[in-house]
Amino acid sequence: MAFFIFGSTAFFHYFCSMKLYGLIGRRLGHSFSADFFNSAFKDKCIDARYCLFEIPEIGCLHSLVAENPNLAGLNVTIPYKESVIPFLDSLTDDARSIGAVNLIEFAGCGDSLKLIGHNTDAPAFRNMAEPLVAGLRRRKALILGTGGAAKAARFALDCLGIESVLISRSSRKGTLSYNQLDNDQVSDAGMIVNATPAGMWPDTSYSPPFPYQWLSPAHVCIDLIYNPATTTFMAECAQKGATVKNGLEMLIGQARIGAGIWGL
Ligand code: NAP
Repeated sequence: MAFFIFGSTAFFHYFCSMKLYGLIGRRLGHSFSADFFNSAFKDKCIDARYCLFEIPEIGCLHSLVAENPNLAGLNVTIPYKESVIPFLDSLTDDARSIGAVNLIEFAGCGDSLKLIGHNTDAPAFRNMAEPLVAGLRRRKALILGTGGAAKAARFALDCLGIESVLISRSSRKGTLSYNQLDNDQVSDAGMIVNATPAGMWPDTSYSPPFPYQWLSPAHVCIDLIYNPATTTFMAECAQKGATVKNGLEMLIGQARIGAGIWGL
């Protein structure tokens, strides 16, 4: 019994001093991040663990940080990539321009702890899209969705010299709505990017309300969703002969960029 108590106390102290990383979001059942980081920590003998933190609202970030003094970095996902910004001490220039944060760097500790917001979705999307963009005859893109991932994709495509328009379910300033799209606009775009959660596990039968009938083999269609590997959006685009790609390479890319920022 004495050994058991000693053993569990030692285990408790070990666990509390071990560096902790994680993902904050509202529903995280779809996420591969914990498996990805925990197996990388094991392979590289890094004394750290990665946890999923489902939080009902972004205001919970402060208590999460206060209750976990060993937290050393966080990823941010739906629906908090934009709402997290007021809770951070500073942003990188790119995160400020994009208006979305998907990674938090913890700089300093105790009273001098500073939370710095980064956007690693944009460089990861850029790296994934660059070889596909190289072959595009029509250097325009339609980006479905108006959230953090859509803004990161638009920033990355701007850097690659591709003009893009965000497509929304509602009429908003600076965007087009799905029902405003016509054959000319779809044919004029070389790339379509699904940056909405429509079709993500577990609601895999959904797809954005896009006019798929106007797609052709000249289109490159990227779904940022990686679970399932082939989404309904990808299947509908492939049926029209378009080249399709899912978001797995981007996911792995942003995790690698993030690990570099965290000094892992
Ligand atoms: P978000 O901030 O919640 O925004 C998604 C946008 O999609 C919303 O602003 C909304 O725009 C639209 N939308 C929401 N539900 C929809 C539905 N049922 N049908 C059609 N449109 C809908 O999400 P996010 O952070 O930008 O992420 C979007 C997707 O990208 C998610 O599936 C996420 O997993 C994926 N993602 C993948 C990676 C990766 O590494 N592969 C990285 C980032 C994000 P409107 O209201 O204007 O229509």
